[in-house]
Amino acid sequence: MNSKEAEKIMTIDWQPLCELIHQHNTFLLTSHCRADCDAVGSELALAHILQALGKQVMIVNGDPVPQHIGFINPDERVHVLGESAQPKELWGIEVLIVVDTSAWVQLGPMADVVRAFPGERVIIDHHVSQDDLGAIEFKEETAEATGRLILELGEALGVKITAEIAMPLFAAIATDTGWFRFSSVKEETFLALGRLVAAGADPPAIFSALYEKHSLPRLYLRARILSHIVADAGGRLLSSYVTKQDFLETGANTTDTEDAINALHTVAGSEIAVLFVELEPGATKVSLRSRTDFNVQEIAAQFGGGGHKKAAGVTFSGSLEEAREAVLDAICVALE
Ligand code: 5GP
Ligand code: MN
Repeated sequence: MNSKEAEKIMTIDWQPLCELIHQHNTFLLTSHCRADCDAVGSELALAHILQALGKQVMIVNGDPVPQHIGFINPDERVHVLGESAQPKELWGIEVLIVVDTSAWVQLGPMADVVRAFPGERVIIDHHVSQDDLGAIEFKEETAEATGRLILELGEALGVKITAEIAMPLFAAIATDTGWFRFSSVKEETFLALGRLVAAGADPPAIFSALYEKHSLPRLYLRARILSHIVADAGGRLLSSYVTKQDFLETGANTTDTEDAINALHTVAGSEIAVLFVELEPGATKVSLRSRTDFNVQEIAAQFGGGGHKKAAGVTFSGSLEEAREAVLDAICVALE
């Protein structure tokens, strides 16, 4: 094996985290708001791994697990801050582990807990971020999913990977890679998936739970998104949007926009896809995807957001129209 190949296979050195875990007994896990399967799957799998070592674990997020990924959380183990978990219950916990985000804004109400947390703080993540959460970082920015990192940590800790751990991790990797088709997928992805299947993950059951149990309002919303498509820059930039009215009229909710952006990349010649979602009159969620070397993270960063080169996002302070004008202009300028 040459050094380039070794570098490709070598990822995070888990030893310091294994030691930290062995030295403590109580753990608080959290992740980003509007959680996806990589966030919740990583939290749940990590909780099982820590419990296998005899640790006490509490999972607390800033908002509830979206209903459409509820299958991943059958025992409803994820608490919501201010609802089933109060901040004062959390102060005695020794270690806080944040998974699948390194950005203050994405933590929502949990940001205050993370800021004030008196114990050890750890991040396990695969996102590029400018923020300093005052934590020890275990990060692989080119990783396809935080879920694979959790699997590696579990293996480094010598924990037996059970079906309970394997299912949420398979779902985490499957969703963050668009069912293994994004360019972030590499040899290690399939090797990890192989180990998860061997441990009891059931891909057809996970596929069905993910993609064949949607609500009718979600499909109505998809129709709206497809009917709002605008092509700019000679078809290199395709964008669409969802208004509050669309949500009201279809009965869909904000999580129902998930994955819709990828439909824009089914068109020949489309390089950049952008979806604008009106959250409030003065707040617009912007999702950006690239399928070339064009770096959408740099565009998101111009407006205070972040993410990856090929998938980034920002919550824009401004109306839907203002967001569309500013972000589409910035992309057109960068394309020139
Ligand atoms: P999505 O469009 O799916 O919400 O996000 C795409 C990527 O951008 C994800 O990796 C996500 O973590 C990141 N991202 C989305 N919104 C924000 C944001 O407001 N700030 C930062 N730093 N990253 C974001
Ligand atoms: Mn992720």
